[in-house]
Amino acid sequence: MRQTGLKQNLRPASAALDDRADDAVWSSNTLNEVLESLPQGVVMYNSEGRLVFSNRRYREATGYSTDELQPGISIEEMLLLRNRAKALTDEERQYCEHLMNCMRRGEVLSGYHHIPDGRIIRYINTPIPSGGWIVTHEDVTRQQSAEKQIEHMASHDALTDLPNRSSFRTQLEQALRLNPEGKQLAVMFLDLDNFKGINDTLGHQVGDELLKTVAERLRFCMRSSDMVARFGGDEFVIVSSALDKPAEAAALARRIRKAILDPFKLLDHQVVVDTSIGIALSPGDGEDADQLLKNADLALYSAKASGRGAYRFFENEMDVRMMERRNLELDLRAGFVGGQFELHYQPLVNLERNTVSCCEALLRWNHPKRGEVPPQTFIPVAEEIGLITRIGEWVIRTACAEAVKWPEDVSVAVNVSPVQFRSQNLVQIVAHALASSGLAPRRLEIEITEAILLEHTEDTLAILRQLQSLGVRIAMDDFGTGYSSLSYLQKFPFDKLKIDQAFIRSLSEDGEANAIVRAVTGIAGSFHMETTAEGVETEEQRAIVTALGCTEMQGYLFSEARSSNDILRLLRSGRHNSLAA
Ligand code: C2E
Ligand code: MG
Ligand code: MG
Repeated sequence: MRQTGLKQNLRPASAALDDRADDAVWSSNTLNEVLESLPQGVVMYNSEGRLVFSNRRYREATGYSTDELQPGISIEEMLLLRNRAKALTDEERQYCEHLMNCMRRGEVLSGYHHIPDGRIIRYINTPIPSGGWIVTHEDVTRQQSAEKQIEHMASHDALTDLPNRSSFRTQLEQALRLNPEGKQLAVMFLDLDNFKGINDTLGHQVGDELLKTVAERLRFCMRSSDMVARFGGDEFVIVSSALDKPAEAAALARRIRKAILDPFKLLDHQVVVDTSIGIALSPGDGEDADQLLKNADLALYSAKASGRGAYRFFENEMDVRMMERRNLELDLRAGFVGGQFELHYQPLVNLERNTVSCCEALLRWNHPKRGEVPPQTFIPVAEEIGLITRIGEWVIRTACAEAVKWPEDVSVAVNVSPVQFRSQNLVQIVAHALASSGLAPRRLEIEITEAILLEHTEDTLAILRQLQSLGVRIAMDDFGTGYSSLSYLQKFPFDKLKIDQAFIRSLSEDGEANAIVRAVTGIAGSFHMETTAEGVETEEQRAIVTALGCTEMQGYLFSEARSSNDILRLLRSGRHNSLAA
């Protein structure tokens, strides 16, 4: 006999409910249809734990047939049927008792069934006032897997699927707690050398592929108990625990470096990448996760500073050096805003006419406590923190404004850092400085070093051409110190080559230096470029560079860099026109 009607099913359990159903606007049949079509499985028991009603969804989900679920059947009988068993297990008996007790006390009882086919069903037993209770069953498999996925996404990096910074910290804390007594734990900070260059030149897609492959190789280098995470960009962090000695961390660092040095084939590109690694060890280099991470980062910084492609262990002095460095950064920013910078000008002398043809603007930083800080110390820092773009703009504007006060046949030379080339608007800055000062473009020389041409050559050449089309002259500074100086001469028509001091210094005693300088002036002459001998300190050097064909000299022999007032006085005195005396 099939009994699925609500009215028939409910009657034995509760006459009161039945009366109310009769009075209701909706017929009990309608209510029955509603319950039958609910997306949740619904079952109702009476106060003795016997079945009153079950809907279709419940039967489908549990696999009971309609015939099996006759009203009046007890929970215990239902369990036996479902398990095709003769007796309940102890666990099942206890559960039934616990359930009945909860229902009698009017408490809700809920939980999850984990079905062998992988589904997860959430059930909620809710007592009803007239005695008995209702159970709802809901398949939450998808919801739970979605939740798991969201949790995974929040704690992992989408690109490499490695743990991210926040979840890694928790893992590191746990690893520190679990690290066996007497053993060491290494935190290793790793980043790829020149990743930015690869990303910029080959595109982000290649950059992404590279990071994914690096993540795979790192996983491959590690023991199963080690951990690796991506902290963003090209920064990876590795934790290796239960080490007997630091040498094991060093061995891992070497293994990682070797694995990464293996050429990458990425979307038709072959790429070779080196890594720098900083290592901090616990105990010793840090008590907690934060300190270890910070010190591993300091060690990485130092590894990079000492030449890329190396690993370094943390040392306490690194912390001190970092503090000094941070103070220098702060002083530099404050000093720039506070007007502690000044431009001095060093004359360049035309060797044929014996007159000052140009003055090079050289930055001077006078710090109230540090005193005169040499440009070699503060310019690399200003470049690294990006402040050089603002300083550089100030240098160009100040130098142009100063040079208009000079005789018209004297130019001004300004040094421009590679960072300024990357900041895009260099051409506008130069054009603006010329326009607002009224300086003729021919009187401005921009000095660049080979470092500028080493990266993004095409972009750089485009900027240089735009500058030249403004009428500005372009000089190659410190010529001869780079890798392939001569090849650049074919790529760009420089107006001037400034031969590095190192060659001038070794001129008299070294026939090779003489030969090089002669070759350079020869080539420059055929390209119609001027040649300046830098760092001329003696009359002898002056005689030699003149004989070798240099067109200009710069150096302490004539003058070091002087304040703007001193230079103005020199140039206005007319003395710059009769240097031979
Ligand atoms: P540089 O552009 O090659 O400038 C020439 C450097 O040689 C100056 O050092 C100058 O004082 C020094 N010098 C000139 N004649 C002699 C000499 O006869 N003997 C010796 N031993 N040295 C001589 P300074 O002023 O210390 O500048 C060093 C470097 O700092 C410059 O080299 C340049 O690369 C950089 N620099 C200076 N001012 C600026 C600036 O405004 N912007 C940028 N980006 N770099 C600058
Ligand atoms: Mg220079
Ligand atoms: Mg130079």
